[in-house]
Order: sequence, then structure tokens, then C-alpha cells
Amino acid sequence: MSKICFDVISLFPKAFQALNDMGVISRAIKNKLISLNTCDLRNYGKGSYKQVDDVPYGGGSGMVLKPEPIYKAYESIIKSKNKRTLLMSPQGQVIKQKDFIRWLSYDQLIIICGQYEGFDERVRKLADEEVSIGDYILTGGEIPAITIINGITRLIPGTLGDPNSLKDESHNCHFLEYPHYTRPSSFRGMDVPTILLSGNHKEIKTWRNDQKIRRTLERRKDLISSEGFKKLLALKKFNKEYNKDIGFCLDNAHDFYPDW
Ligand code: SAH
Repeated sequence: MSKICFDVISLFPKAFQALNDMGVISRAIKNKLISLNTCDLRNYGKGSYKQVDDVPYGGGSGMVLKPEPIYKAYESIIKSKNKRTLLMSPQGQVIKQKDFIRWLSYDQLIIICGQYEGFDERVRKLADEEVSIGDYILTGGEIPAITIINGITRLIPGTLGDPNSLKDESHNCHFLEYPHYTRPSSFRGMDVPTILLSGNHKEIKTWRNDQKIRRTLERRKDLISSEGFKKLLALKKFNKEYNKDIGFCLDNAHDFYPDW
């Protein structure tokens, strides 16, 4: 039996074929680490036209997905006891890496995809969580759903060739990941930092840790929680450049950490 079963309700189930073309994810499907079922909303449409949408009460632009087909599609899915229902919506909480980790503990994730202007308000009752992938609007919930399936699946043990790659990666802790280089050591005048060619694993580790901190300070100061920031200060292992950055952080601490 697969570790997680994804059941997706969508008007465009073909979109999910894309997951079969994503190396790591298609392998997880083949190896039965996940199973993926799509439920075609059209099959639950009303009348001979299989109508799934209608004009909004009160007027206004666009079409709204009707509640009955979505409820019927939802009711047709065999439910596991340990399930969670996610409604794709730009009005939901914006997901973070920690949400993928949290959802790993469910046996079944039912994902409902909206289209057009969205769905009838009463559809919200079906959902345990309303989930957004970012503060922008897409045409439908399929790409958000694929994003979620992809993000969760790669965390399931046995999916990635080397599970160690999950350890250091960005968004798994307070810091972004360090820079990567591969052969050749010199490319169009750009050289790989000599420390990486040294073979000194201890020094490489220290360099990488420093790079993680530097990158995060440069690009995403907002990621460092006050807890992480205190740890950062406690490290006392920064060269002058980092000290300058930390001084700047402290001067502006209230902008970054309003709870201080
Ligand atoms: N009129 C709605 C947007 C509808 S977009 C509003 O202003 O809130 C159509 C559908 O695409 C949504 O119902 C949702 O399922 C999906 N969608 C669009 N953008 C999304 C996002 N950022 N995150 C998650 N789902 C999104």
C-alpha cells in the first residue's frame, strides 16, 4: 500500500499527467510510494451538458463552480480515517516547507481545485484547510495541487536517491542553502572557490555554514526567526563582514522581528 494517496477533484484531470513526466515523482508512483487518483469534476455535472458552473448570484463577471458537482465528486471518493482535505484557493494560508512536512503524516490527501472565478462559498465547508501557493492568481487549482503533490512526495523516504540532500536544503531550517559548484573548476573566467577543491572536509563544512548565514542575511533576512537570530549571535564566529551585517540587523531588528 502506498504511503500517501492523493485524490484530486479537478475539471482538468489531464493536467496531472505532468506528474508522470517528473522523474522523481513518476518513480515514486511506480514504486507505490504514493498513489494518485484524479476525479473528473465534469462527470458530476448537471444535466445533458454536464454543467459544472453558473453565473454568480448578485451579478458580476465570470462563472462560479456549482456546489453540487463538487460535493458529489467529494462523496464518491473512498475516505481513509487519517485524511485531510485541502482546498486550493488564493485566499488561503500561503504554504511553507513546514506544511509539506506536516501533511506527510496523513494517509490520504483530498485536493479540490477551483476554476474560473472560483467556487461557490458553500464548498469551503468540505475543506480542513484552504491553501494558497502564493499571493498571485492562477487560472485554476491544478498547478497549486501539482506543486503540493510534488513538494510532499519528495519528502517521502525512498523517493530521493540521496535522502541527505533534504538535510541542508533551503527552507528546511532558518537558512538558505550554500552555493553549489560542479566540474569544470574554471568556467569562462569564473572559478570554483579554492576551499571546495581542498579536500579538507572540516573546513568545507565551516565555509558552507558561513555561506548559508551570509546568503540568508543578503537575500532573506525575513527567514531568520528571532530564535534563529539569537543562535546566530551566539555563534560568535563571524568575520568582519558578517559582523557588519549583524550590526545592521540589530539596528533594524524591529523591522525584521516585530515581536522583539
Ligand atoms: N476570484 C478568485 C480567484 C479565482 S482563481 C479570488 O479573487 O479569490 C480560480 C481558482 O484557481 C481558485 O478557485 C483556486 O482553486 C485556484 N488558484 C488560483 N490562484 C491560486 C493560488 N495562488 N493558490 C491556490 N489556488 C489558486
